[in-house]
Amino acid sequence: MFFGKNKEIVADILIDMHNIDEIVKIIQPLETRIADPNRFVSSLVYDSRKIYRAHEGIFFALQNIRDGHDFVESAYINGVRNFVISRNDLDYSAYPKANFLRVDNVLHSLQKLSKNIRSEFLGDLIGITGSNGKTIVKEWLYELLITEHKVYKSPKSYNSQLGVALSLWELNNQYNLALIEAGISQVGEMVWLEKMIQPKIGIVTGIGPAHAIGFESKDRKIAEKLSLFVNAEVVIYPSDSFELNDYLPGKKKFTWGTNIKDDIRIQHITKINKNTTRVSLLSKGNNYEWDLPFIDDASIRNILTCITFMVYYGLSMQVIINRTARLKHIEMRLQLKNGVNNCSIIDDSYSNDLGSLKIALDFLHQQKQYDKKTLILSDMIGLSQSKNLVNKLIKLLSEQDLYRLIVVGGEFKKILRDLPYPVFYFKNTQQVLNELELLGFEKETLLIKGGRAFQFEKLSRALVEKVHSTTLEIDLNAMEANLKTYKKKLPEGVKVMAMVKALSYGSGGYEVANLLQFNNVDYLTVAYADEGVELRRRGINIPIMVMNPEPQNFDVLIEYKLEPEVYSFGLLKSLIQYLKNEENLSILPIHLKLDTGMHRLGFLPSDLYPLLDLLATNHCVKVKSVFSHLVASGNPKFDVYTKQQIDIFSEFAKQLEDNLMYNVIKHISNTAAINRWPAAYFDMVRLGIGLYGQDNSDQHPQLNQVSTLKTTVTQIKHLQKGMTIGYDRSQTLVRDAVIATVRIGYADGYDRRFGQGVGTMLIHGQKVHTVGNICMDMCMLDVTGIDVEEGDEVTVFANLEQEANKIGTIPYELLVSISSRVKRVYFYE
Ligand SMILES: *Cc1c(COP(=O)(O)O)cnc(C)c1O
Repeated sequence: MFFGKNKEIVADILIDMHNIDEIVKIIQPLETRIADPNRFVSSLVYDSRKIYRAHEGIFFALQNIRDGHDFVESAYINGVRNFVISRNDLDYSAYPKANFLRVDNVLHSLQKLSKNIRSEFLGDLIGITGSNGKTIVKEWLYELLITEHKVYKSPKSYNSQLGVALSLWELNNQYNLALIEAGISQVGEMVWLEKMIQPKIGIVTGIGPAHAIGFESKDRKIAEKLSLFVNAEVVIYPSDSFELNDYLPGKKKFTWGTNIKDDIRIQHITKINKNTTRVSLLSKGNNYEWDLPFIDDASIRNILTCITFMVYYGLSMQVIINRTARLKHIEMRLQLKNGVNNCSIIDDSYSNDLGSLKIALDFLHQQKQYDKKTLILSDMIGLSQSKNLVNKLIKLLSEQDLYRLIVVGGEFKKILRDLPYPVFYFKNTQQVLNELELLGFEKETLLIKGGRAFQFEKLSRALVEKVHSTTLEIDLNAMEANLKTYKKKLPEGVKVMAMVKALSYGSGGYEVANLLQFNNVDYLTVAYADEGVELRRRGINIPIMVMNPEPQNFDVLIEYKLEPEVYSFGLLKSLIQYLKNEENLSILPIHLKLDTGMHRLGFLPSDLYPLLDLLATNHCVKVKSVFSHLVASGNPKFDVYTKQQIDIFSEFAKQLEDNLMYNVIKHISNTAAINRWPAAYFDMVRLGIGLYGQDNSDQHPQLNQVSTLKTTVTQIKHLQKGMTIGYDRSQTLVRDAVIATVRIGYADGYDRRFGQGVGTMLIHGQKVHTVGNICMDMCMLDVTGIDVEEGDEVTVFANLEQEANKIGTIPYELLVSISSRVKRVYFYE
């Protein structure tokens, strides 16, 4: 409706196909090696783990934690023929069919291409930045504007130097409005973002203290953020954040706030009940008052930003009121849950656009637990009007290795053909619900991806295993970020063994292992063989060490390629005996554990020579690694002891290696040692608790919280002073009180010692205390003075470390004690 015939034609020309010549012109490389000048490029590859459309891809060897150049070979083997690199020592003859463009800075070349794509865009581009709320504002504006505009938006929170470049790659003139998010973490980054994005209209959501690291002052941070808008026609922002004229003198502004000069002038903001806020504001001299379905300040501020933009952009107040009154909370993360009949469910049912579909499909393919992968997909907005979108969607779908595709809505029937897997068509969501039994989902990973109107949440409700409403939420992005934090500390070449014992410190099984495998950790470690077997059955194929091998399951070790830790002569001899009795076995890799001071398991330094003798005469085992464990690497009080442990280990390992005449991997560092003992990295580190967001060493890095234990309120009671609560009348009310019963007890892992006011939980962000004794399946909270209803959500540990201290334990114990009946739900962005 916004494109006349002429523009439609322009759009077709702009279909994102480039040939290598064009790309050379834009990037201007220092040097080229062109083997195939006729190659077209339609997709961008920057992560060798995510290659689909290899033959039309161009690989950017970005420097990240790992050097992208290390993956040129595997990308080539996968069929990629175009490379942008910066290293000048690459041997081109090893890649006879590939085009190479050598540049100074690979990221900047990628950004140049994106800049070029952006400059061909004829519609209005809106740049969104700010300390908080960027993604929400972007997603909400998309929903608020999609009725009359063809809106493009950057996917999820792709707002970094790389993220923005990737977002722009998909922009074209089928759209007339683009919402692009930009985030920065340090001074100097915005220049590049500005060059790429060239926003016509700027939105700043607000400036808070968040992300202050990397900036010397708040002033500096504002200046940097606003530099995105040096060439914009206007900047839209809350006037309580800064004065635009101080930073961009003379620039037009359009603001919301309580000042007389604000374009959207707030009269009142009143919370009228638990779910609703009434706003009253002045726009162009008229007063408007209506209810918004949110109560938290952040949401209200974000909606006000959206309203201000819409007014500026010319939407009528009536439309603005109607739409903002119906806005919904946006779940930005993918959720991975256990489904019925042994399925895994990836739930992403609030939006459906090409960008977020790609991300969700990537995540689907990271899941290795089942071979069968099924996509349930709804119609996409704009599908019937846009040939380009249809083409891209078909291309994307045809690259997927799916077991089956289930499509909902009328559009697909006309466009899908020749897909390499069966496709099932349904008119609406109810029809799918009616046919669930026939579809017979079993042992497959399902991605449920649909636009809001299709109400796919009904599907996920039907397919997700019923759980009592106490869950452990695990943020896989946080875990990924923690892994990166530690990897960054390590010099090139030091391997990472990730400890996933005890169900990954309580955080779950193969879902976590999948993520770690995907992120190229070198080893996983479990406590017992059966944990390893479970991982192997769920598609984990990287090396796994087992810390407690037992003679009764030596056969399992062999069958599932699990590598035992060997800590004593008794164990080593029985292993050798077992192997000798087996016919035609290949050699079993083992990991020798040395006791350097823990005095738990392990050979003693004095065992060296007898150990060498035994190994010299028995070639059925091969020492893959030698290791030891530090007892107090995080505690400066014991640094002398730690140093001594490291020295003993170092000496033993050297002797062992010299005598064995082959290399073995040496490792001694746990999480705390990664921070405090760089001299103890050797060849590999063993990362445990840090991955899960805890680190007790004195110089620990900033980590992301990974797991959040949540429960819900079952019942609320108004009780009088003098009454007692729970078993054994352990606590008497000293005043009238409101008591909430919640669905968690000691059988779920909520320790009884948290009873009688010791434990604190959070309801709507407010701290509440337990009252009375903790029961087996529930406990009671004093919620006097807090607005609580039955069914409300409760965060169980207000602060994991503090809670652990209160009952004389450590976060490790609280985490692993969360019982397996508490279902784990995984989030991924
Ligand atoms: C659990 C464990 C680790 C990990 O320790 P963190 O302090 O959690 O990093 C390392 N090595 C061994 C032998 C372990 O048992």
